[in-house]
Amino acid sequence: MAQTIDGTAIAAALVAGVAEDAAKFSAETGSVPTLAVILVGNDPASEIYVNRKLAQTRKAGMRSLEQLNDDPSVHGILVQLPLPGHIDAGAILDAIDPLKDVDGFHPVNVGRLSTGTGGLVPCTPLGCMRLLETVIEDFRGLKAVVIGKSNIVGKPVALLLLERECTVEVTHIFTRGLPDIVRTADIVVVAAGSPGLVRGDWVKSGAVVIDVGINRITDGDRTRVVGDAVFSEMAHARAVTPVPGGVGPMTIACLLENTMRAAWKLQAEGRSAAPGAAKLLPPAKSVTVSVSNLLVEANIGLYAHEKGRLQRLNLHVTVKILPPRRDQIDQTIDYNAIMTIANEVAATHTTLIETFAMQVAKRCLDLDRVIEAEVAVEKPAALPNGVAATRVVMASKDR
Ligand code: NAD
Repeated sequence: MAQTIDGTAIAAALVAGVAEDAAKFSAETGSVPTLAVILVGNDPASEIYVNRKLAQTRKAGMRSLEQLNDDPSVHGILVQLPLPGHIDAGAILDAIDPLKDVDGFHPVNVGRLSTGTGGLVPCTPLGCMRLLETVIEDFRGLKAVVIGKSNIVGKPVALLLLERECTVEVTHIFTRGLPDIVRTADIVVVAAGSPGLVRGDWVKSGAVVIDVGINRITDGDRTRVVGDAVFSEMAHARAVTPVPGGVGPMTIACLLENTMRAAWKLQAEGRSAAPGAAKLLPPAKSVTVSVSNLLVEANIGLYAHEKGRLQRLNLHVTVKILPPRRDQIDQTIDYNAIMTIANEVAATHTTLIETFAMQVAKRCLDLDRVIEAEVAVEKPAALPNGVAATRVVMASKDR
Protein backbone atom coordinates (compact mmCIF):
# COMPACT_ATOMS: atom_id res chain seq x y z
CA MET A 1 0.00 0.00 0.00
CA ALA A 2 1.39 3.36 -0.97
CA GLN A 3 2.16 5.85 1.74
CA THR A 4 -0.16 8.85 1.67
CA ILE A 5 1.95 11.98 2.01
CA ASP A 6 -0.01 14.05 4.47
CA GLY A 7 0.38 17.60 3.13
CA THR A 8 -1.91 19.02 5.78
CA ALA A 9 0.24 17.73 8.65
CA ILE A 10 3.55 18.56 6.94
CA ALA A 11 2.31 22.07 6.18
CA ALA A 12 1.15 22.52 9.80
CA ALA A 13 4.64 21.57 11.03
CA LEU A 14 6.22 23.99 8.57
CA VAL A 15 3.89 26.79 9.66
CA ALA A 16 4.74 26.09 13.31
CA GLY A 17 8.44 26.40 12.47
CA VAL A 18 7.80 29.64 10.59
CA ALA A 19 5.86 30.99 13.59
CA GLU A 20 8.85 30.30 15.85
CA ASP A 21 11.16 31.99 13.38
CA ALA A 22 8.80 34.97 13.15
CA ALA A 23 8.81 35.33 16.95
CA LYS A 24 12.61 35.23 16.92
CA PHE A 25 12.69 37.83 14.14
CA SER A 26 10.41 40.15 16.10
CA ALA A 27 12.43 39.69 19.29
CA GLU A 28 15.72 40.39 17.51
CA THR A 29 14.63 43.23 15.25
CA GLY A 30 11.56 44.79 16.86
CA SER A 31 9.77 44.44 13.53
CA VAL A 32 6.94 42.06 12.61
CA PRO A 33 7.40 40.04 9.38
CA THR A 34 4.80 41.51 7.06
CA LEU A 35 3.29 40.28 3.82
CA ALA A 36 1.40 42.74 1.61
CA VAL A 37 -1.19 41.20 -0.71
CA ILE A 38 -2.29 43.22 -3.71
CA LEU A 39 -5.76 42.47 -4.99
CA VAL A 40 -6.86 44.20 -8.16
CA GLY A 41 -10.42 44.16 -9.45
CA ASN A 42 -11.62 41.64 -6.88
CA ASP A 43 -15.07 41.65 -8.43
CA PRO A 44 -14.43 40.26 -11.91
CA ALA A 45 -18.14 40.34 -12.78
CA SER A 46 -18.13 44.08 -12.52
CA GLU A 47 -16.55 44.85 -15.88
CA ILE A 48 -17.86 48.38 -16.01
CA TYR A 49 -16.41 49.15 -12.64
CA VAL A 50 -13.07 47.68 -13.68
CA ASN A 51 -13.06 49.58 -16.96
CA ARG A 52 -13.90 52.87 -15.35
CA LYS A 53 -11.34 52.43 -12.66
CA LEU A 54 -8.71 50.92 -14.91
CA ALA A 55 -6.46 53.91 -15.46
CA GLN A 56 -6.62 54.78 -11.81
CA THR A 57 -6.11 51.21 -10.69
CA ARG A 58 -3.06 50.76 -12.83
CA LYS A 59 -1.55 54.01 -11.67
CA ALA A 60 -2.45 53.48 -8.06
CA GLY A 61 -1.33 49.86 -8.26
CA MET A 62 2.07 50.81 -9.54
CA ARG A 63 2.44 53.69 -7.19
CA SER A 64 1.50 51.71 -4.16
CA LEU A 65 3.81 48.95 -5.36
CA GLU A 66 6.70 51.40 -5.30
CA GLN A 67 5.72 52.47 -1.82
CA LEU A 68 5.57 48.85 -0.70
CA ASN A 69 8.99 48.19 -2.26
CA ASP A 70 10.45 51.04 -0.22
CA ASP A 71 8.46 50.48 2.95
CA PRO A 72 10.83 48.93 5.51
CA SER A 73 7.91 47.46 7.45
CA VAL A 74 6.85 45.31 4.44
CA HIS A 75 8.90 42.16 3.81
CA GLY A 76 6.88 40.31 1.19
CA ILE A 77 4.66 41.44 -1.67
CA LEU A 78 2.17 39.18 -3.35
CA VAL A 79 0.07 40.11 -6.34
CA GLN A 80 -3.05 38.01 -6.49
CA LEU A 81 -3.27 36.48 -9.98
CA PRO A 82 -4.97 36.46 -12.36
CA LEU A 83 -5.25 40.20 -12.78
CA PRO A 84 -8.13 41.64 -14.81
CA GLY A 85 -7.33 41.14 -18.49
CA HIS A 86 -6.63 44.82 -19.16
CA ILE A 87 -3.78 44.97 -16.73
CA ASP A 88 -0.34 43.86 -17.81
CA ALA A 89 0.51 41.24 -15.19
CA GLY A 90 4.12 41.05 -16.43
CA ALA A 91 4.69 44.77 -15.85
CA ILE A 92 3.23 44.55 -12.36
CA LEU A 93 5.31 41.49 -11.43
CA ASP A 94 8.46 43.12 -12.83
CA ALA A 95 7.87 46.16 -10.64
CA ILE A 96 8.12 44.16 -7.40
CA ASP A 97 11.45 44.36 -5.62
CA PRO A 98 12.98 40.89 -6.20
CA LEU A 99 13.93 40.72 -2.51
CA LYS A 100 10.24 41.06 -1.59
CA ASP A 101 8.92 38.85 -4.38
CA VAL A 102 7.64 36.01 -2.18
CA ASP A 103 5.92 34.37 -5.15
CA GLY A 104 9.27 34.04 -6.92
CA PHE A 105 7.86 35.23 -10.28
CA HIS A 106 10.17 38.23 -10.83
CA PRO A 107 12.63 37.64 -13.71
CA VAL A 108 15.56 38.06 -11.29
CA ASN A 109 14.26 35.23 -9.11
CA VAL A 110 13.43 33.12 -12.17
CA GLY A 111 17.01 33.64 -13.34
CA ARG A 112 18.40 32.81 -9.93
CA LEU A 113 16.39 29.60 -9.86
CA SER A 114 17.59 28.58 -13.30
CA THR A 115 21.22 29.21 -12.37
CA GLY A 116 20.86 27.68 -8.91
CA THR A 117 22.00 30.89 -7.22
CA GLY A 118 19.45 31.34 -4.46
CA GLY A 119 16.60 33.82 -4.65
CA LEU A 120 12.96 33.29 -3.78
CA VAL A 121 11.38 30.15 -5.24
CA PRO A 122 7.69 29.91 -6.27
CA CYS A 123 5.61 28.49 -3.43
CA THR A 124 3.87 25.50 -5.05
CA PRO A 125 7.08 24.00 -6.52
CA LEU A 126 8.83 24.61 -3.20
CA GLY A 127 5.95 22.81 -1.47
CA CYS A 128 6.33 19.85 -3.88
CA MET A 129 10.02 19.58 -2.99
CA ARG A 130 9.28 19.77 0.75
CA LEU A 131 6.80 16.89 0.34
CA LEU A 132 9.25 14.83 -1.72
CA GLU A 133 11.93 15.42 0.92
CA THR A 134 9.74 13.62 3.48
CA VAL A 135 10.00 10.36 1.51
CA ILE A 136 13.21 10.67 -0.52
CA GLU A 137 16.59 11.14 1.08
CA ASP A 138 18.87 11.15 -1.92
CA PHE A 139 17.54 12.58 -5.18
CA ARG A 140 20.72 12.09 -7.16
CA GLY A 141 20.23 10.11 -10.33
CA LEU A 142 16.51 9.54 -9.87
CA LYS A 143 14.40 9.91 -12.99
CA ALA A 144 11.76 12.61 -12.57
CA VAL A 145 8.94 13.23 -15.02
CA VAL A 146 7.11 16.54 -14.74
CA ILE A 147 3.76 16.80 -16.50
CA GLY A 148 2.94 20.43 -17.31
CA LYS A 149 5.33 23.22 -18.24
CA SER A 150 3.71 26.28 -16.72
CA ASN A 151 5.85 29.07 -15.31
CA ILE A 152 4.26 28.73 -11.90
CA VAL A 153 4.54 24.96 -11.40
CA GLY A 154 6.00 22.76 -14.14
CA LYS A 155 9.14 24.69 -15.12
CA PRO A 156 10.24 25.73 -11.63
CA VAL A 157 9.63 22.27 -10.16
CA ALA A 158 11.68 20.78 -13.02
CA LEU A 159 14.55 23.18 -12.23
CA LEU A 160 14.41 22.34 -8.53
CA LEU A 161 14.56 18.62 -9.31
CA LEU A 162 17.44 19.22 -11.70
CA GLU A 163 19.23 21.19 -9.00
CA ARG A 164 18.97 18.08 -6.81
CA GLU A 165 20.67 16.09 -9.60
CA CYS A 166 17.59 14.23 -10.82
CA THR A 167 17.34 13.35 -14.49
CA VAL A 168 14.33 15.40 -15.46
CA GLU A 169 11.93 15.07 -18.37
CA VAL A 170 9.39 17.85 -18.78
CA THR A 171 6.24 16.93 -20.67
CA HIS A 172 3.14 18.79 -21.81
CA ILE A 173 -0.03 18.52 -23.82
CA PHE A 174 1.84 17.88 -27.09
CA THR A 175 4.19 15.26 -25.66
CA ARG A 176 3.91 11.98 -27.55
CA GLY A 177 3.69 8.68 -25.71
CA LEU A 178 3.20 10.27 -22.30
CA PRO A 179 2.21 7.03 -20.48
CA ASP A 180 5.46 5.31 -21.52
CA ILE A 181 7.51 8.32 -20.44
CA VAL A 182 5.79 8.39 -17.05
CA ARG A 183 6.49 4.66 -16.66
CA THR A 184 10.23 5.46 -16.57
CA ALA A 185 9.84 7.82 -13.59
CA ASP A 186 10.95 7.37 -10.00
CA ILE A 187 9.27 10.71 -9.28
CA VAL A 188 6.14 11.93 -11.06
CA VAL A 189 5.02 15.52 -10.56
CA VAL A 190 1.77 16.20 -12.38
CA ALA A 191 0.49 19.76 -12.79
CA ALA A 192 -1.72 19.60 -15.85
CA GLY A 193 -5.17 20.56 -14.61
CA SER A 194 -6.59 17.43 -16.23
CA PRO A 195 -8.68 15.31 -13.84
CA GLY A 196 -7.64 11.65 -13.66
CA LEU A 197 -4.93 12.03 -16.33
CA VAL A 198 -2.34 9.80 -14.67
CA ARG A 199 -3.62 6.24 -14.40
CA GLY A 200 -2.27 3.49 -12.18
CA ASP A 201 -0.67 1.61 -15.08
CA TRP A 202 1.37 4.72 -16.03
CA VAL A 203 3.17 4.63 -12.71
CA LYS A 204 5.93 2.14 -12.02
CA SER A 205 6.04 0.24 -8.76
CA GLY A 206 7.75 2.18 -6.02
CA ALA A 207 7.51 5.57 -7.72
CA VAL A 208 6.55 8.70 -5.77
CA VAL A 209 3.63 10.69 -7.18
CA ILE A 210 3.08 14.37 -6.40
CA ASP A 211 -0.31 15.48 -7.63
CA VAL A 212 -0.52 19.27 -8.00
CA GLY A 213 -3.80 19.32 -9.93
CA ILE A 214 -6.88 20.91 -8.44
CA ASN A 215 -9.95 20.11 -10.50
CA ARG A 216 -13.52 20.72 -9.51
CA ILE A 217 -15.79 18.07 -10.97
CA THR A 218 -19.51 17.67 -10.73
CA ASP A 219 -20.83 14.31 -9.64
CA GLY A 220 -24.60 14.36 -9.98
CA ASP A 221 -25.55 17.35 -7.88
CA ARG A 222 -22.34 17.29 -5.86
CA THR A 223 -19.10 19.08 -6.64
CA ARG A 224 -15.82 17.63 -5.50
CA VAL A 225 -12.17 18.40 -5.93
CA VAL A 226 -9.91 15.81 -7.55
CA GLY A 227 -6.31 15.78 -8.66
CA ASP A 228 -4.64 14.95 -11.96
CA ALA A 229 -3.81 11.38 -10.85
CA VAL A 230 -6.27 8.60 -10.04
CA PHE A 231 -5.47 8.20 -6.35
CA SER A 232 -7.29 4.87 -5.98
CA GLU A 233 -5.04 3.29 -8.64
CA MET A 234 -1.75 4.22 -6.95
CA ALA A 235 -1.51 1.41 -4.38
CA HIS A 236 1.71 0.10 -5.96
CA ALA A 237 3.41 3.49 -5.73
CA ARG A 238 5.80 4.13 -2.88
CA ALA A 239 4.06 7.34 -1.86
CA VAL A 240 1.41 9.62 -3.25
CA THR A 241 -0.11 12.97 -2.33
CA PRO A 242 -3.89 13.14 -1.96
CA VAL A 243 -6.08 15.90 -3.38
CA PRO A 244 -7.20 17.71 -1.34
CA GLY A 245 -4.72 17.58 1.53
CA GLY A 246 -1.46 17.20 -0.41
CA VAL A 247 0.26 20.00 -2.29
CA GLY A 248 -2.49 22.59 -1.63
CA PRO A 249 -1.77 23.25 2.06
CA MET A 250 1.97 23.39 1.34
CA THR A 251 1.60 26.36 -1.01
CA ILE A 252 0.43 28.72 1.72
CA ALA A 253 2.95 27.32 4.22
CA CYS A 254 5.76 27.96 1.73
CA LEU A 255 4.46 31.48 1.15
CA LEU A 256 4.93 32.13 4.87
CA GLU A 257 8.36 30.50 4.75
CA ASN A 258 9.33 32.74 1.81
CA THR A 259 8.11 35.81 3.69
CA MET A 260 10.40 34.89 6.59
CA ARG A 261 13.33 34.33 4.24
CA ALA A 262 12.69 37.72 2.66
CA ALA A 263 12.41 39.36 6.08
CA TRP A 264 15.79 38.01 7.27
CA LYS A 265 17.46 38.99 4.03
CA LEU A 266 16.03 42.53 4.13
CA GLN A 267 17.01 42.78 7.79
CA ALA A 268 20.58 41.72 6.95
CA GLU A 269 20.70 44.45 4.35
CA GLY A 270 19.41 47.13 6.71
CA ARG A 271 16.11 47.38 4.86
CA SER A 272 13.73 46.17 7.54
CA ALA A 273 12.15 48.29 10.24
CA ALA A 274 9.11 48.41 12.45
CA PRO A 275 6.05 50.21 11.04
CA GLY A 276 6.15 53.94 11.41
CA ALA A 277 9.91 54.19 11.21
CA ALA A 278 10.63 57.45 9.46
CA LYS A 279 13.68 56.37 7.49
CA LEU A 280 15.38 53.30 6.20
CA LEU A 281 18.04 51.99 8.50
CA PRO A 282 21.54 53.08 7.55
CA PRO A 283 23.35 50.54 5.39
CA ALA A 284 24.79 47.77 7.50
CA LYS A 285 28.56 47.79 7.94
CA SER A 286 30.30 44.85 6.41
CA VAL A 287 32.48 42.30 8.14
CA THR A 288 35.62 40.92 6.52
CA VAL A 289 36.45 37.24 6.68
CA SER A 290 39.78 36.05 5.40
CA VAL A 291 41.14 32.58 4.73
CA SER A 292 44.76 32.18 3.66
CA ASN A 293 46.92 29.39 2.31
CA LEU A 294 44.26 26.99 1.14
CA LEU A 295 45.85 24.21 -0.83
CA VAL A 296 43.80 22.99 -3.78
CA GLU A 297 44.81 20.48 -6.41
CA ALA A 298 43.68 21.30 -9.93
CA ASN A 299 44.44 20.44 -13.51
CA ILE A 300 45.07 24.02 -14.61
CA GLY A 301 47.31 25.55 -17.21
CA LEU A 302 48.00 26.01 -20.90
CA TYR A 303 51.58 24.93 -21.30
CA ALA A 304 52.65 21.43 -22.16
CA HIS A 305 54.32 20.92 -18.82
CA GLU A 306 51.14 22.01 -17.04
CA LYS A 307 48.62 20.07 -19.07
CA GLY A 308 47.07 16.91 -17.69
CA ARG A 309 48.93 17.34 -14.45
CA LEU A 310 47.50 18.15 -11.06
CA GLN A 311 48.94 21.37 -9.72
CA ARG A 312 48.90 22.42 -6.13
CA LEU A 313 47.43 25.90 -6.00
CA ASN A 314 47.71 28.19 -3.04
CA LEU A 315 44.57 30.23 -2.47
CA HIS A 316 43.92 33.32 -0.36
CA VAL A 317 40.29 34.34 -0.12
CA THR A 318 38.87 37.43 1.56
CA VAL A 319 35.15 38.06 1.57
CA LYS A 320 33.17 41.01 2.82
CA ILE A 321 29.83 40.02 4.26
CA LEU A 322 26.91 41.96 5.59
CA PRO A 323 26.66 41.29 9.31
CA PRO A 324 24.74 38.09 9.92
CA ARG A 325 22.70 37.42 12.99
CA ARG A 326 25.10 36.60 15.78
CA ASP A 327 24.16 32.93 15.79
CA GLN A 328 24.70 32.60 12.04
CA ILE A 329 28.23 33.88 11.65
CA ASP A 330 29.70 30.40 11.35
CA GLN A 331 27.13 29.33 8.79
CA THR A 332 27.72 32.33 6.59
CA ILE A 333 31.20 31.67 5.43
CA ASP A 334 34.17 29.88 6.82
CA TYR A 335 37.16 27.80 5.86
CA ASN A 336 35.03 24.78 4.98
CA ALA A 337 32.63 26.75 2.78
CA ILE A 338 35.52 28.21 0.79
CA MET A 339 37.29 24.87 0.60
CA THR A 340 34.15 23.23 -0.77
CA ILE A 341 33.78 25.93 -3.42
CA ALA A 342 37.45 25.80 -4.36
CA ASN A 343 37.42 22.01 -4.66
CA GLU A 344 34.26 22.00 -6.76
CA VAL A 345 35.69 24.61 -9.11
CA ALA A 346 39.00 22.78 -9.29
CA ALA A 347 37.18 19.59 -10.22
CA THR A 348 35.33 21.18 -13.13
CA HIS A 349 37.57 23.92 -14.52
CA THR A 350 40.71 22.94 -16.36
CA THR A 351 41.49 26.33 -17.83
CA LEU A 352 43.46 29.37 -16.81
CA ILE A 353 44.47 30.44 -13.38
CA GLU A 354 42.52 33.71 -13.81
CA THR A 355 39.38 31.80 -14.73
CA PHE A 356 39.85 29.65 -11.69
CA ALA A 357 40.19 32.70 -9.41
CA MET A 358 37.16 34.33 -11.01
CA GLN A 359 35.03 31.22 -10.62
CA VAL A 360 35.92 30.94 -6.93
CA ALA A 361 35.12 34.65 -6.40
CA LYS A 362 31.84 34.31 -8.29
CA ARG A 363 30.81 31.31 -6.23
CA CYS A 364 31.66 33.14 -2.99
CA LEU A 365 29.32 35.94 -4.10
CA ASP A 366 26.53 33.39 -4.45
CA LEU A 367 26.68 32.78 -0.72
CA ASP A 368 24.16 34.61 1.39
CA ARG A 369 25.15 38.15 2.36
CA VAL A 370 28.57 38.13 0.64
CA ILE A 371 29.06 41.54 -1.00
CA GLU A 372 32.65 41.36 -2.13
CA ALA A 373 35.12 38.56 -2.75
CA GLU A 374 38.84 38.83 -3.31
CA VAL A 375 40.68 35.75 -4.47
CA ALA A 376 44.42 35.45 -4.93
CA VAL A 377 45.85 32.27 -6.44
CA GLU A 378 49.50 31.24 -6.55
CA LYS A 379 50.77 28.45 -8.72
CA PRO A 380 54.11 26.83 -7.90
CA ALA A 381 55.49 26.90 -11.43
CA ALA A 382 54.91 28.42 -14.88
CA LEU A 383 56.97 29.20 -17.96
CA PRO A 384 58.78 32.55 -17.79
CA ASN A 385 55.98 34.24 -19.73
CA GLY A 386 53.27 32.16 -18.05
CA VAL A 387 51.21 33.28 -15.12
CA ALA A 388 52.12 32.03 -11.69
CA ALA A 389 49.89 34.25 -9.59
CA THR A 390 46.69 36.20 -10.02
CA ARG A 391 44.32 38.28 -7.95
CA VAL A 392 40.64 38.93 -8.66
CA VAL A 393 38.23 41.21 -6.81
CA MET A 394 34.54 40.91 -7.54
CA ALA A 395 31.67 42.81 -5.97
CA SER A 396 28.08 41.71 -5.88
CA LYS A 397 26.00 43.69 -8.35
CA ASP A 398 22.59 43.26 -6.78
CA ARG A 399 23.30 44.33 -3.24
P1 NAD B 1 -1.43 25.64 -16.76
O1 NAD B 1 -2.77 25.49 -17.40
O2 NAD B 1 -0.72 26.92 -16.79
O3 NAD B 1 -0.45 24.53 -17.37
C1 NAD B 1 -0.87 23.22 -17.58
C2 NAD B 1 0.24 22.45 -18.23
O4 NAD B 1 -0.15 21.11 -18.31
C3 NAD B 1 0.53 22.91 -19.64
O5 NAD B 1 1.94 22.94 -19.82
C4 NAD B 1 -0.09 21.85 -20.53
O6 NAD B 1 0.64 21.64 -21.73
C5 NAD B 1 -0.04 20.63 -19.63
N1 NAD B 1 -1.14 19.72 -19.87
C6 NAD B 1 -2.46 19.99 -19.85
N2 NAD B 1 -3.17 18.89 -20.14
C7 NAD B 1 -2.28 17.91 -20.37
C8 NAD B 1 -2.40 16.55 -20.77
N3 NAD B 1 -3.59 15.99 -20.99
N4 NAD B 1 -1.26 15.84 -20.95
C9 NAD B 1 -0.05 16.41 -20.75
N5 NAD B 1 0.11 17.68 -20.38
C10 NAD B 1 -1.00 18.43 -20.21
O7 NAD B 1 -1.66 25.10 -15.27
P2 NAD B 1 -0.89 25.37 -13.90
O8 NAD B 1 -1.14 26.75 -13.45
O9 NAD B 1 0.53 24.88 -13.97
O10 NAD B 1 -1.71 24.41 -12.95
C11 NAD B 1 -1.81 23.02 -13.20
C12 NAD B 1 -2.74 22.39 -12.18
O11 NAD B 1 -2.19 22.60 -10.88
C13 NAD B 1 -4.14 23.01 -12.16
O12 NAD B 1 -5.06 22.00 -11.83
C14 NAD B 1 -4.06 24.01 -11.01
O13 NAD B 1 -5.32 24.24 -10.42
C15 NAD B 1 -3.14 23.27 -10.08
N6 NAD B 1 -2.40 24.14 -9.16
C16 NAD B 1 -2.40 23.80 -7.87
C17 NAD B 1 -1.71 24.54 -6.95
C18 NAD B 1 -1.71 24.11 -5.51
O14 NAD B 1 -1.45 24.90 -4.65
N7 NAD B 1 -1.93 22.84 -5.25
C19 NAD B 1 -1.00 25.66 -7.35
C20 NAD B 1 -0.98 26.00 -8.70
C21 NAD B 1 -1.69 25.21 -9.60
